[in-house]
Amino acid sequence: MPRWSSSSFSVPTRLWLPAPPVGRTDVQITLLGTGSPIPDPLRAGPSTLVRSEGTAILVDCGRGLLMRLAGAGLLPPMLSAVLVTHLHSDHLTDLNDVITMHWVMNPRPVTLSVFGPPGMREVVDATLAALAPDIRYRLAHHADLTGRPSVQVTEVTRGNSFDVGAIAVRVAATDHRPVEPTVGYRLESDGRSAVLGGDGVPCAGLDELCKGADAYVQTVIRDDLVRQVPNARFQDIVDYHSTVEDASRTAARAGVRTLVLTHYVPPMAADASDAWRALAAQHFAGEIVLGDDLTTVDI
Ligand SMILES: [Zn+2]
Ligand SMILES: [Zn+2]
Repeated sequence: MPRWSSSSFSVPTRLWLPAPPVGRTDVQITLLGTGSPIPDPLRAGPSTLVRSEGTAILVDCGRGLLMRLAGAGLLPPMLSAVLVTHLHSDHLTDLNDVITMHWVMNPRPVTLSVFGPPGMREVVDATLAALAPDIRYRLAHHADLTGRPSVQVTEVTRGNSFDVGAIAVRVAATDHRPVEPTVGYRLESDGRSAVLGGDGVPCAGLDELCKGADAYVQTVIRDDLVRQVPNARFQDIVDYHSTVEDASRTAARAGVRTLVLTHYVPPMAADASDAWRALAAQHFAGEIVLGDDLTTVDI
């Protein structure tokens, strides 16, 4: 028996059908990618999926996210919207892949909604420009593909709010200076709330967003470990990211129920999760979730 066969590469018809409803009434958070800019064989780049009542929102587009999205049982056409917290490359590397596969895998013309801070439109325009040859090839080859990828960009700032399907979204400013502007999102559905803080240090906008949330997802670093690496460029990251302790203090201050940590810098070793959790538990008495890619929390 060969290790692969032609049948391995056939595309099941169901992949091309519209998204089935998720069929749940709660909110489900899946860490698609728990990595960071540092390449890691086991962790995709920063990306989190939030699902509720058939709505699926992708927050950030890190390296390899579509592989993990498939692992979570979703394909690109099933995405309701993409939210971007900021324009650092590790949160955007695979936006081009999302745009392309959302376009070519949909059986009919559709628009991909992308929300992000000011600058988002420039990034999407440049991404579409880079994809121009590919778009030409596919339009020339596929008779039933009649239009270019359609992407609707909405640039958002603090205080904005909007709905994506069953999920209501609120935007707040975060502090990831000198990267600015940056935003965090509070997603609410079915009486449940999840905050996606993105990168940054604790700030008033994040506190306000997190107030009473069921879950708070924060990208974190371990400054104690980063400081041991004799590399000035690596140590530069300490001053604009939340440490594990920072995130846990924000969670405690805001009365969050569940703290979800992701974007582990340096990469969290397989046997190190207890040590990371213990650091957070010094400041936060609620549930603390961290783990590998595809770790899922129901709230
Ligand atoms: Zn960043
Ligand atoms: Zn980052």
